[in-house]
Amino acid sequence: MVIRSLLKLAESKFNFISPRFPLPSSARTISSSSVPSHLERVGFIGLGNMGSRMANNLIKAGYNVAVHDINLSVIKMFSDKGISVKGSPMEVAEISDVVITMLPSPTHVLEVYTGSNGLLNGGNPVRPWLFIDSSTIDPQTTRKLSSAVSNSALIQHKDSWNTPVMLDAPVSGGVSAAETGTLTFMIGGLEEAYKAAEPLFSSMGKNTIYCGTTGTGSAAKICNNLAMAVSMLGVSEAFVLGQSLGIKATTLTKIFNSSSARCWSSDMYNPVPGVMDGVPSSRNYDGGFASALMAKDLNLASASAKEIGLNCPLTSEAKHIFTKLCDDGLGKKDFSCVFRNFYNGKDEL
Ligand code: NAD
Repeated sequence: MVIRSLLKLAESKFNFISPRFPLPSSARTISSSSVPSHLERVGFIGLGNMGSRMANNLIKAGYNVAVHDINLSVIKMFSDKGISVKGSPMEVAEISDVVITMLPSPTHVLEVYTGSNGLLNGGNPVRPWLFIDSSTIDPQTTRKLSSAVSNSALIQHKDSWNTPVMLDAPVSGGVSAAETGTLTFMIGGLEEAYKAAEPLFSSMGKNTIYCGTTGTGSAAKICNNLAMAVSMLGVSEAFVLGQSLGIKATTLTKIFNSSSARCWSSDMYNPVPGVMDGVPSSRNYDGGFASALMAKDLNLASASAKEIGLNCPLTSEAKHIFTKLCDDGLGKKDFSCVFRNFYNGKDEL
């Protein structure tokens, strides 16, 4: 019944095109008419490369946003714009209907939810009816957190939701998609909560894919990144072999892209410097998706596989290679630097 009334509310209010406001220079105190009342006050925690841009898009769409991060310089950027900044996750939760987290790893997410002054308020009742974690973490941690959330009580029942709910909603698309509000969200958890939260997702992304029960969004994300890592290693290895056998990477790229080896790593994100413009390989592998994040995601995939006893040899090998890049001091470089820094591939002249 709770869910039905929320959905009714959603149906009556969600048929709108979210307006795009210019980047705010001061706090928005007005509440946009397109913002559904059950989502009006949004807390955002983790304002790094991705989170700061996602939070900005929510602000532009008219949400009343409060933020928290442990990095004081990023906090200052938001407070200078007149956005409400809070000293702890608990303080954010105290004034929010929904809280979104965008943090580096499972440890950070656990700390923010269950640590002292955490979102879950040490087991006491909480205000937000919905928690959305967009960090890339493993499905096991997601499920643990989701049950901690649903074991909490709400200070005030929201329509008839009796306990808060959590959605795992990791993203694909990187920093530029976070900036332009064109992320893809992969969502796990209660479908009704996902539907009720859709306006939030469409303010930050252009695709939302509902994956199923709790943890399936996290699972989808680590599977996507595992496949991306292996395809990047595959094309890099093939380009290096090609160069050693006398074939230029430009020629091989043309062949791959019109043959069965074609993939995102060959036609959109080519790792060989000099083959494509506008990709990290064309700017000394700066920007893009850090090798350290790829190593972390492969660790999550590997741990998940181990937990269920699944043999994943390519995951282990990819994890080993990206961990080595980090050990060699290349953790901040885009993961396509594997071509130059692991395989010793040559730039295309
Ligand atoms: P980031 O390191 O730039 O930002 C993380 C932010 O979290 C930082 O500002 C940090 O200060 C903050 N933080 C850490 N611990 C905290 C705590 N205890 N309390 C409050 N704030 C805390 O990371 P990012 O690139 O924004 O990535 C965030 C997540 O998104 C990661 O899980 C990453 O794997 C995933 N992701 C990143 C990309 C990308 O291209 N960068 C793409 C897709 C998904």
